[in-house]
Amino acid sequence: MTPSPNRELPELAELERIIEEGAGLFTARTVCEVSVDQQRFPVYAVTLGNPDPTLPAVGYFGGFHGLERIGSEVVLVYMRSLLARLRWDSLLHRELETLRLVFMPLVNPGGMWRGTRANPSGVDLMRNAPVDAREPVPFMVGGQRISGGLPWYRGPLNAPMEAESQAVCNVVAEEMLPRPFSLAVDCHSGFGVLDRIWFPYAHTAAPIEQLAEVHALKSIFDETYAHHSYVFEPQSRQYLTHGDVWDHLYQQASAQPAPAPRIFLPLTLEMGSWLWIKKNPRQLFSRHGIFNPLIAHRQQRVLRRHLSWLDFLARSANAYQRWLPSGDALAEHRAMALKLWYRRTPA
Ligand SMILES: [Zn+2]
Repeated sequence: MTPSPNRELPELAELERIIEEGAGLFTARTVCEVSVDQQRFPVYAVTLGNPDPTLPAVGYFGGFHGLERIGSEVVLVYMRSLLARLRWDSLLHRELETLRLVFMPLVNPGGMWRGTRANPSGVDLMRNAPVDAREPVPFMVGGQRISGGLPWYRGPLNAPMEAESQAVCNVVAEEMLPRPFSLAVDCHSGFGVLDRIWFPYAHTAAPIEQLAEVHALKSIFDETYAHHSYVFEPQSRQYLTHGDVWDHLYQQASAQPAPAPRIFLPLTLEMGSWLWIKKNPRQLFSRHGIFNPLIAHRQQRVLRRHLSWLDFLARSANAYQRWLPSGDALAEHRAMALKLWYRRTPA
Protein backbone atom coordinates (compact mmCIF):
# COMPACT_ATOMS: atom_id res chain seq x y z
CA MET A 1 0.00 0.00 0.00
CA THR A 2 1.54 3.34 -1.00
CA PRO A 3 0.65 5.93 1.59
CA SER A 4 -1.18 8.93 0.22
CA PRO A 5 1.26 11.81 -0.29
CA ASN A 6 -1.28 14.15 1.24
CA ARG A 7 -0.55 14.83 4.89
CA GLU A 8 -3.17 17.50 5.26
CA LEU A 9 -5.74 14.81 5.90
CA PRO A 10 -4.55 13.27 9.18
CA GLU A 11 -7.51 10.86 9.34
CA LEU A 12 -6.53 9.33 5.98
CA ALA A 13 -2.88 9.17 7.03
CA GLU A 14 -3.84 7.37 10.25
CA LEU A 15 -6.05 4.93 8.35
CA GLU A 16 -3.19 4.13 5.97
CA ARG A 17 -0.82 3.60 8.92
CA ILE A 18 -3.30 1.19 10.52
CA ILE A 19 -3.67 -0.68 7.21
CA GLU A 20 0.10 -0.90 6.87
CA GLU A 21 0.75 -1.98 10.46
CA GLY A 22 -2.15 -4.41 10.32
CA ALA A 23 -1.07 -6.05 7.06
CA GLY A 24 -1.88 -9.75 7.20
CA LEU A 25 -4.68 -9.08 9.69
CA PHE A 26 -6.68 -6.25 8.13
CA THR A 27 -7.51 -6.51 4.43
CA ALA A 28 -7.93 -3.16 2.68
CA ARG A 29 -9.21 -2.26 -0.75
CA THR A 30 -9.98 1.00 -2.50
CA VAL A 31 -13.68 1.05 -3.28
CA CYS A 32 -13.73 4.41 -5.02
CA GLU A 33 -11.51 7.39 -5.69
CA VAL A 34 -12.39 11.02 -5.29
CA SER A 35 -10.73 13.86 -7.19
CA VAL A 36 -10.68 17.32 -5.74
CA ASP A 37 -8.43 20.34 -6.43
CA GLN A 38 -5.80 18.24 -8.27
CA GLN A 39 -5.77 15.75 -5.41
CA ARG A 40 -6.93 12.18 -5.57
CA PHE A 41 -8.18 10.43 -2.45
CA PRO A 42 -8.96 6.74 -2.03
CA VAL A 43 -12.06 5.60 -0.14
CA TYR A 44 -11.03 2.45 1.68
CA ALA A 45 -13.02 -0.51 2.91
CA VAL A 46 -11.13 -2.58 5.45
CA THR A 47 -12.16 -6.01 6.67
CA LEU A 48 -11.12 -8.23 9.54
CA GLY A 49 -12.24 -11.64 10.73
CA ASN A 50 -13.90 -14.60 9.12
CA PRO A 51 -15.36 -13.92 5.62
CA ASP A 52 -17.76 -16.92 5.78
CA PRO A 53 -21.15 -15.42 4.73
CA THR A 54 -23.06 -17.60 7.18
CA LEU A 55 -21.46 -15.68 10.07
CA PRO A 56 -22.59 -12.31 11.47
CA ALA A 57 -20.90 -8.99 10.71
CA VAL A 58 -20.57 -5.46 12.01
CA GLY A 59 -19.83 -2.47 9.80
CA TYR A 60 -18.23 0.67 11.23
CA PHE A 61 -18.66 3.82 9.16
CA GLY A 62 -17.59 7.44 9.59
CA GLY A 63 -16.78 10.61 7.73
CA PHE A 64 -19.89 10.83 5.55
CA HIS A 65 -19.89 14.51 6.45
CA GLY A 66 -16.55 16.21 5.85
CA LEU A 67 -16.91 18.55 8.81
CA GLU A 68 -17.50 15.79 11.34
CA ARG A 69 -13.93 14.62 11.75
CA ILE A 70 -14.65 13.20 15.19
CA GLY A 71 -16.85 10.53 13.54
CA SER A 72 -13.90 9.23 11.51
CA GLU A 73 -11.62 9.50 14.52
CA VAL A 74 -13.88 7.42 16.74
CA VAL A 75 -13.76 4.57 14.19
CA LEU A 76 -10.00 4.94 13.73
CA VAL A 77 -9.40 4.80 17.48
CA TYR A 78 -11.41 1.58 17.63
CA MET A 79 -9.43 0.11 14.71
CA ARG A 80 -6.17 1.11 16.41
CA SER A 81 -7.36 -0.52 19.63
CA LEU A 82 -8.24 -3.76 17.78
CA LEU A 83 -4.82 -3.73 16.14
CA ALA A 84 -3.16 -3.47 19.55
CA ARG A 85 -5.36 -6.23 20.99
CA LEU A 86 -4.65 -8.55 18.06
CA ARG A 87 -1.09 -8.78 19.41
CA TRP A 88 -2.13 -10.22 22.79
CA ASP A 89 -5.87 -10.79 23.17
CA SER A 90 -6.69 -14.41 22.47
CA LEU A 91 -10.39 -13.83 23.22
CA LEU A 92 -10.47 -11.30 20.38
CA HIS A 93 -8.87 -13.85 18.06
CA ARG A 94 -11.52 -16.34 19.09
CA GLU A 95 -14.27 -13.78 18.51
CA LEU A 96 -12.95 -13.12 14.98
CA GLU A 97 -13.19 -16.81 14.13
CA THR A 98 -16.97 -16.39 14.10
CA LEU A 99 -17.36 -12.72 13.18
CA ARG A 100 -16.66 -10.38 10.26
CA LEU A 101 -15.79 -6.73 10.85
CA VAL A 102 -16.00 -4.12 8.09
CA PHE A 103 -14.66 -0.58 8.36
CA MET A 104 -15.18 2.52 6.22
CA PRO A 105 -13.96 5.27 8.53
CA LEU A 106 -13.56 7.94 5.87
CA VAL A 107 -16.41 7.85 3.36
CA ASN A 108 -16.04 11.46 2.18
CA PRO A 109 -12.31 12.31 2.09
CA GLY A 110 -12.88 15.05 -0.51
CA GLY A 111 -15.30 16.87 1.78
CA MET A 112 -13.02 16.41 4.76
CA TRP A 113 -10.07 17.77 2.83
CA ARG A 114 -12.08 20.80 1.75
CA GLY A 115 -13.76 21.26 5.11
CA THR A 116 -17.30 20.86 3.81
CA ARG A 117 -20.19 18.73 4.98
CA ALA A 118 -20.97 17.71 1.38
CA ASN A 119 -18.72 15.83 -1.03
CA PRO A 120 -16.72 17.80 -3.63
CA SER A 121 -19.77 17.84 -5.95
CA GLY A 122 -21.76 19.62 -3.27
CA VAL A 123 -23.93 16.60 -2.50
CA ASP A 124 -24.83 15.68 1.09
CA LEU A 125 -24.11 11.94 1.18
CA MET A 126 -26.77 11.47 3.88
CA ARG A 127 -29.46 12.96 1.59
CA ASN A 128 -28.34 11.24 -1.60
CA ALA A 129 -29.99 7.80 -1.56
CA PRO A 130 -33.11 7.16 -3.67
CA VAL A 131 -35.59 7.40 -0.77
CA ASP A 132 -38.25 10.10 -0.54
CA ALA A 133 -39.71 11.01 2.82
CA ARG A 134 -43.33 9.92 3.22
CA GLU A 135 -44.20 12.84 5.47
CA PRO A 136 -43.14 16.51 5.43
CA VAL A 137 -39.44 17.11 6.18
CA PRO A 138 -37.96 20.24 7.76
CA PHE A 139 -37.21 22.92 5.15
CA MET A 140 -33.68 22.54 3.73
CA VAL A 141 -32.33 20.27 6.49
CA GLY A 142 -34.54 17.42 5.32
CA GLY A 143 -32.79 17.47 1.92
CA GLN A 144 -33.22 19.88 -1.03
CA ARG A 145 -32.75 19.88 -4.79
CA ILE A 146 -32.53 23.65 -5.18
CA SER A 147 -28.75 23.89 -5.46
CA GLY A 148 -25.48 22.18 -4.65
CA GLY A 149 -24.33 25.58 -3.42
CA LEU A 150 -26.65 25.21 -0.46
CA PRO A 151 -26.35 22.65 2.33
CA TRP A 152 -28.28 19.36 2.46
CA TYR A 153 -28.31 19.04 -1.35
CA ARG A 154 -29.65 15.67 -2.51
CA GLY A 155 -28.07 15.75 -5.99
CA PRO A 156 -29.98 16.03 -9.30
CA LEU A 157 -33.30 14.21 -9.62
CA ASN A 158 -32.95 10.69 -11.05
CA ALA A 159 -29.15 10.93 -11.17
CA PRO A 160 -27.18 7.89 -9.99
CA MET A 161 -25.92 8.04 -6.43
CA GLU A 162 -22.60 9.78 -5.82
CA ALA A 163 -19.58 7.48 -6.07
CA GLU A 164 -18.99 7.57 -2.28
CA SER A 165 -22.63 6.67 -1.47
CA GLN A 166 -22.59 3.93 -4.10
CA ALA A 167 -19.34 2.56 -2.66
CA VAL A 168 -20.95 2.27 0.78
CA CYS A 169 -23.98 0.53 -0.73
CA ASN A 170 -21.74 -1.90 -2.62
CA VAL A 171 -19.70 -2.77 0.47
CA VAL A 172 -22.84 -3.29 2.56
CA ALA A 173 -24.50 -5.36 -0.20
CA GLU A 174 -21.44 -7.52 -0.59
CA GLU A 175 -20.15 -7.83 2.95
CA MET A 176 -23.23 -7.56 5.13
CA LEU A 177 -26.62 -8.13 3.52
CA PRO A 178 -26.05 -11.79 2.56
CA ARG A 179 -25.47 -12.69 6.23
CA PRO A 180 -28.09 -13.96 8.65
CA PHE A 181 -27.32 -11.08 11.00
CA SER A 182 -25.43 -7.82 10.69
CA LEU A 183 -25.19 -4.49 12.45
CA ALA A 184 -23.86 -1.21 11.12
CA VAL A 185 -22.90 1.91 13.03
CA ASP A 186 -22.30 5.19 11.29
CA CYS A 187 -20.61 7.88 13.41
CA HIS A 188 -21.72 11.51 13.16
CA SER A 189 -21.63 14.65 15.30
CA GLY A 190 -23.39 17.96 15.46
CA PHE A 191 -26.87 17.33 16.83
CA GLY A 192 -27.97 18.26 20.33
CA VAL A 193 -26.28 17.88 23.71
CA LEU A 194 -26.71 14.14 24.22
CA ASP A 195 -25.07 11.18 22.49
CA ARG A 196 -27.77 9.43 20.51
CA ILE A 197 -28.06 6.04 18.87
CA TRP A 198 -30.49 6.27 16.02
CA PHE A 199 -32.09 3.49 14.08
CA PRO A 200 -34.31 3.75 10.95
CA TYR A 201 -36.47 5.18 9.72
CA ALA A 202 -35.46 8.70 8.79
CA HIS A 203 -37.95 8.99 5.93
CA THR A 204 -41.11 8.19 7.88
CA ALA A 205 -42.38 8.19 11.44
CA ALA A 206 -43.64 4.63 10.90
CA PRO A 207 -41.78 1.90 12.83
CA ILE A 208 -39.42 -0.55 11.12
CA GLU A 209 -40.29 -4.19 10.82
CA GLN A 210 -37.43 -5.31 13.08
CA LEU A 211 -38.40 -3.07 15.97
CA ALA A 212 -38.39 -5.97 18.45
CA GLU A 213 -34.81 -6.82 17.54
CA VAL A 214 -33.64 -3.22 18.02
CA HIS A 215 -35.40 -3.11 21.38
CA ALA A 216 -33.77 -6.37 22.42
CA LEU A 217 -30.35 -4.95 21.49
CA LYS A 218 -31.07 -1.82 23.53
CA SER A 219 -32.17 -3.99 26.47
CA ILE A 220 -28.96 -6.01 26.61
CA PHE A 221 -26.93 -2.80 26.26
CA ASP A 222 -28.87 -1.15 29.12
CA GLU A 223 -28.42 -4.19 31.32
CA THR A 224 -24.71 -4.55 30.55
CA TYR A 225 -23.74 -0.87 30.75
CA ALA A 226 -25.85 0.53 33.57
CA HIS A 227 -25.86 4.35 33.64
CA HIS A 228 -24.62 4.72 30.08
CA SER A 229 -25.53 8.09 28.66
CA TYR A 230 -26.85 7.22 25.19
CA VAL A 231 -30.37 8.00 24.07
CA PHE A 232 -31.57 5.13 21.89
CA GLU A 233 -34.38 6.15 19.49
CA PRO A 234 -35.61 6.08 15.90
CA GLN A 235 -34.17 8.99 13.94
CA SER A 236 -37.73 10.00 13.01
CA ARG A 237 -38.27 11.12 16.60
CA GLN A 238 -35.89 14.03 15.95
CA TYR A 239 -36.43 14.93 12.30
CA LEU A 240 -37.33 13.34 8.98
CA THR A 241 -35.13 13.46 5.89
CA HIS A 242 -35.09 12.44 2.26
CA GLY A 243 -32.30 10.31 0.91
CA ASP A 244 -31.00 8.56 4.05
CA VAL A 245 -28.60 5.86 2.88
CA TRP A 246 -29.33 3.60 5.90
CA ASP A 247 -33.07 3.69 5.24
CA HIS A 248 -32.25 2.74 1.65
CA LEU A 249 -30.03 -0.16 2.69
CA TYR A 250 -32.45 -1.31 5.37
CA GLN A 251 -35.20 -1.44 2.75
CA GLN A 252 -32.91 -3.35 0.39
CA ALA A 253 -32.17 -5.86 3.13
CA SER A 254 -35.89 -6.26 3.87
CA ALA A 255 -36.68 -6.78 0.19
CA GLN A 256 -34.23 -9.69 -0.16
CA PRO A 257 -35.76 -13.06 -0.92
CA ALA A 258 -35.22 -14.89 2.32
CA PRO A 259 -34.33 -18.56 2.31
CA ALA A 260 -33.56 -17.96 5.98
CA PRO A 261 -34.48 -14.81 7.92
CA ARG A 262 -31.82 -12.14 7.52
CA ILE A 263 -31.52 -9.20 9.83
CA PHE A 264 -29.62 -6.00 9.09
CA LEU A 265 -29.83 -3.26 11.71
CA PRO A 266 -28.14 -0.01 10.71
CA LEU A 267 -27.50 2.35 13.62
CA THR A 268 -26.16 5.89 13.72
CA LEU A 269 -24.07 7.23 16.56
CA GLU A 270 -24.89 10.94 16.68
CA MET A 271 -22.46 12.53 19.12
CA GLY A 272 -24.02 15.50 20.87
CA SER A 273 -21.68 18.38 20.14
CA TRP A 274 -23.62 21.32 21.55
CA LEU A 275 -22.25 20.57 25.00
CA TRP A 276 -18.71 21.01 23.66
CA ILE A 277 -19.76 24.46 22.52
CA LYS A 278 -21.47 25.27 25.79
CA LYS A 279 -18.25 24.46 27.62
CA ASN A 280 -16.21 26.45 25.09
CA PRO A 281 -18.34 29.09 23.34
CA ARG A 282 -15.35 30.18 21.23
CA GLN A 283 -16.02 27.04 19.18
CA LEU A 284 -18.99 28.83 17.66
CA PHE A 285 -16.55 30.94 15.67
CA SER A 286 -14.78 27.96 14.16
CA ARG A 287 -16.41 25.95 11.42
CA HIS A 288 -14.80 22.76 12.70
CA GLY A 289 -15.61 23.66 16.27
CA ILE A 290 -19.33 23.18 15.97
CA PHE A 291 -18.83 19.55 15.01
CA ASN A 292 -15.65 18.56 16.84
CA PRO A 293 -14.26 18.99 20.32
CA LEU A 294 -11.41 21.49 20.02
CA ILE A 295 -9.80 21.00 23.41
CA ALA A 296 -7.45 18.02 23.57
CA HIS A 297 -8.70 16.55 26.85
CA ARG A 298 -12.30 16.81 25.70
CA GLN A 299 -11.45 15.13 22.41
CA GLN A 300 -9.66 12.31 24.24
CA ARG A 301 -12.68 11.84 26.47
CA VAL A 302 -14.98 11.62 23.45
CA LEU A 303 -12.70 9.15 21.67
CA ARG A 304 -12.40 7.00 24.78
CA ARG A 305 -16.07 7.10 25.70
CA HIS A 306 -17.38 5.36 22.60
CA LEU A 307 -14.95 2.43 22.54
CA SER A 308 -17.13 0.27 24.76
CA TRP A 309 -20.18 0.95 22.60
CA LEU A 310 -18.29 -0.04 19.43
CA ASP A 311 -16.95 -3.15 21.10
CA PHE A 312 -20.40 -4.01 22.44
CA LEU A 313 -21.66 -4.10 18.84
CA ALA A 314 -19.01 -6.65 17.86
CA ARG A 315 -19.81 -8.85 20.84
CA SER A 316 -23.57 -8.61 20.47
CA ALA A 317 -23.41 -9.39 16.74
CA ASN A 318 -21.15 -12.34 17.43
CA ALA A 319 -23.65 -13.70 19.95
CA TYR A 320 -26.87 -12.66 18.19
CA GLN A 321 -28.45 -16.06 18.58
CA ARG A 322 -28.29 -15.72 22.36
CA TRP A 323 -30.34 -12.53 22.61
CA LEU A 324 -32.44 -12.11 19.45
CA PRO A 325 -36.03 -12.57 20.62
CA SER A 326 -38.38 -15.16 19.19
CA GLY A 327 -41.90 -16.37 19.90
CA ASP A 328 -43.63 -14.52 22.76
CA ALA A 329 -40.52 -12.46 23.50
CA LEU A 330 -40.66 -11.03 19.99
CA ALA A 331 -44.18 -9.72 20.54
CA GLU A 332 -43.26 -8.43 24.01
CA HIS A 333 -40.25 -6.51 22.73
CA ARG A 334 -42.29 -5.03 19.91
CA ALA A 335 -45.00 -3.91 22.31
CA MET A 336 -42.44 -2.32 24.64
CA ALA A 337 -40.75 -0.59 21.71
CA LEU A 338 -44.03 0.79 20.35
CA LYS A 339 -44.86 2.17 23.76
CA LEU A 340 -41.40 3.63 24.34
CA TRP A 341 -40.73 5.19 20.95
CA TYR A 342 -44.05 5.52 19.17
CA ARG A 343 -46.40 6.15 22.12
CA ARG A 344 -48.57 3.33 20.88
CA THR A 345 -50.34 0.79 22.98
CA PRO A 346 -50.94 -2.35 20.98
CA ALA A 347 -54.57 -3.46 20.75
ZN1 LIG B 1 -23.29 13.91 9.97
